[in-house]
Amino acid sequence: MNLNIQENVILAPFTTFKIGGPARFFSVSSSEDELIGLIKWAKEKKLPVFALGGGSNILVSDKGFDGLVIKIQNPKYEIKNLNIFTEAGVPFAKLIFESAKSELTGLEWGAGIPGTIGGATNGNAGAFGEDISASIEKARVFDVKDFSVKEFNNKMCGFQYRDSVFKKNPDLIILSLVLKLQKGNAGEINESIKDALKQRNESHGAGVKSAGCVFKNIPWGRKDIDKDYLTGALPDLKKYGHFPRFSAGFIIDSLGLRGKKLGDAMVLEKHANFIVNLEKAKAEHIIMLIGLIKERVDHKYGIKLEEEIQLVGFD
Ligand SMILES: Cc1cc2nc3c(=O)[nH]c(=O)nc-3n(C[C@H](O)[C@H](O)[C@H](O)COP(=O)(O)OP(=O)(O)OC[C@H]3O[C@@H](n4cnc5c(N)ncnc54)[C@H](O)[C@@H]3O)c2cc1C
Repeated sequence: MNLNIQENVILAPFTTFKIGGPARFFSVSSSEDELIGLIKWAKEKKLPVFALGGGSNILVSDKGFDGLVIKIQNPKYEIKNLNIFTEAGVPFAKLIFESAKSELTGLEWGAGIPGTIGGATNGNAGAFGEDISASIEKARVFDVKDFSVKEFNNKMCGFQYRDSVFKKNPDLIILSLVLKLQKGNAGEINESIKDALKQRNESHGAGVKSAGCVFKNIPWGRKDIDKDYLTGALPDLKKYGHFPRFSAGFIIDSLGLRGKKLGDAMVLEKHANFIVNLEKAKAEHIIMLIGLIKERVDHKYGIKLEEEIQLVGFD
């Protein structure tokens, strides 16, 4: 098998932030055998492996990644009855539109989310109160620790809000997935997709270099959250009262941080939970802006924000 491994490949073009230094080694996998072959190659050389999907939920450090980055492009999928059988590298958007064509409902909320189904499963991607965990029946996983292929049912995936067993343990690489959807009405499915795209466009617009929401929304039930104090200081926060979490963007916005810039990194004017690369931002600028936001939010409200984006190549 020709693994076609390149050296010193700049990662910025493979991320939606368009930021990041070189991977010491880089390869693209387009089949399960290639993916496993690449992992074995790295392990024989005692190199760490990073599974890269669409690069839309990560910030890669300026010094890059000292190991093998595998861009997972494994493209096969099949829709049968209510199930989608898909390899991890298939774009999430493709599955949304193909399932709509088959009059299957369950993924419409994800319209407009970039990246692969593997990446979406890793971070339990979600929007508008829904997430991918509701549609995942099984995952076929390669465990880098013991070189075995395992099958995880939904429970074993350990899904939580923007979290999963895969996010906690990068040694678990998703090879393929089985999704289960429901039969729906073509007109309604297409309407929901249009609606999701419209809301997304209104909330953060298109074409910005970002990785989506930088911080997780905040659970009301967390020990450090004083609901009475917060809703007293910010009465409009009550609009999130019926939800399990309140918006990190709302909190950041309340500190007047929209438009705040460090170098070419800026808090998006339209959406305070997005940081964008205006043109030539370095990872360092993004990290400094993240630090500044966390410090201000903690100082003013005593809230510890948690990153939703994943940091790659930072020690
Ligand atoms: C404009 C914009 C809007 C966004 N809106 C949303 C939103 O509404 N909701 C939301 O949840 N997210 C959103 N995101 C973030 C991001 O698009 C999603 O989290 C997406 O699902 C990540 O997929 P990816 O393939 O790009 O993952 P990557 O960024 O490539 O990787 C993310 C993580 O997944 C891991 N990973 C990738 N493939 C695999 C695999 N096969 N096996 C194991 N681990 C793997 C990576 O190692 C990494 O840790 C948005 C991003 C942008 C830029």
